[in-house]
Amino acid sequence: MFVSKNLSVNGENHLVIGKNDAVSLAKEFGTPLYVLDEDLVRENCRTYKTAMDKYYGGRGLVLYANKALCTLFTCRIAAEEGLGLDVVSGGELYTAIKADFPMEKICFHGNNKTADELEMAVENNVGHIIVDNIYELERLNSIAAKHGKVQKIMFRIKPGVDAHTHSFVQTGQIDSKFGVALENGEAFEIIERAVSMENVKVTGVHCHIGSQIFDIDPFLKAAEVMMDFIGDLKDKLCLEIDELNLGGGYGIRYTESDDPIEYDEYIRHVSEVVKAMSEKRGVKLPFIYMEPGRSIVASAGVTLYTVGGVKDIKNVRKYISVDGGMCDNPRYIMYESEYTAVVANNASAEPCETVTIAGKCCESGDILLKDIKMPEIRVGDTLAVLATGAYNYSMSSNYNRIPRPAMVAVSDGAAKVVVKRETYEDLIRNDL
Ligand SMILES: *Cc1c(COP(=O)(O)O)cnc(C)c1O
Repeated sequence: MFVSKNLSVNGENHLVIGKNDAVSLAKEFGTPLYVLDEDLVRENCRTYKTAMDKYYGGRGLVLYANKALCTLFTCRIAAEEGLGLDVVSGGELYTAIKADFPMEKICFHGNNKTADELEMAVENNVGHIIVDNIYELERLNSIAAKHGKVQKIMFRIKPGVDAHTHSFVQTGQIDSKFGVALENGEAFEIIERAVSMENVKVTGVHCHIGSQIFDIDPFLKAAEVMMDFIGDLKDKLCLEIDELNLGGGYGIRYTESDDPIEYDEYIRHVSEVVKAMSEKRGVKLPFIYMEPGRSIVASAGVTLYTVGGVKDIKNVRKYISVDGGMCDNPRYIMYESEYTAVVANNASAEPCETVTIAGKCCESGDILLKDIKMPEIRVGDTLAVLATGAYNYSMSSNYNRIPRPAMVAVSDGAAKVVVKRETYEDLIRNDL
């Protein structure tokens, strides 16, 4: 009945997540509150891992793209489930280090890693650095030389594939700040240069075409283009590429109209394309990586708010104000993203009117859900916004000096705080 399959309703007509009553969670831990269903996160990790074993003989590694939700807790889950990790900054790498994540299973991405970040990665023996451009390549080679190491690298390639998603989250086309292009020979040149360097070893190529993509075709096309490129590298440079990293971007269900395909299907189909292309181009079957972020954590998250006011502007719009907003979930203000909400204390009530759920920040664009059908909402109700596990906490801010909410992990009836609620003291910690 809900967009996320892990939710249900109990005898008191309250929303239930991870066998916990959402209204009780709101009472016990306060609102706004991020709730993360640990069991579903683990299940999602296993779905990908099992598919990789089943369809590609285990000759691959699923990396959790940490930027979707980066905490010590989620890093530890990814490690326990046997996944690798994709990090995009020194801060994410630091979190992984502090979570004792196995460094060899980390890929470090980003279009402008600083010298300090590269140094940190080399010092800590990060498995692969995904090199974005020539400046970074030169910088990395000299840093690795300074440390007497040979750093394994892959290159971020733009495969020139249109991913049919929001333009802000499309990354595979030539007009992108990420990576090097195939069309103009740039990718070829940079790899030729890297091969001549002493302190980097080119092991693979990488692409990531975008995010929240529902079609399977762009992924298959990208895999085909990348395999062709691997074939070209062999033919023209006699360079054998061992690893192919195909990125993430698999869509999830935010509203009823979203229809993602089963995640293991991606791996099944992509495996077929990679195998066929390896025969066609006479190259060895590469070890493959996939990097799901959103699809591992999004559906496992729910954010709970308390309704503080209802403003019914006759013939205009009815606003419901909650005690959070763009500071804990900036996705509407950034992308006009859509969500589904439930009145947690009246969870099976039928929708009866159109309302807009507004946040408490001093911005008219601070909306969580615009013009959605909801049951009657009253002041004091607990409102649950669904599928907020990805790109909410990780994109949160202290705008208006609003402390970040706590995050509670729920599992089989138990609930524990995994990120403490920020205090006012936290807000001024760095002020001098
Ligand atoms: C963001 C990102 C991902 C994960 O994308 P999702 O849409 O969250 O699955 C994977 N790889 C790279 C390089 C990324 O930048």
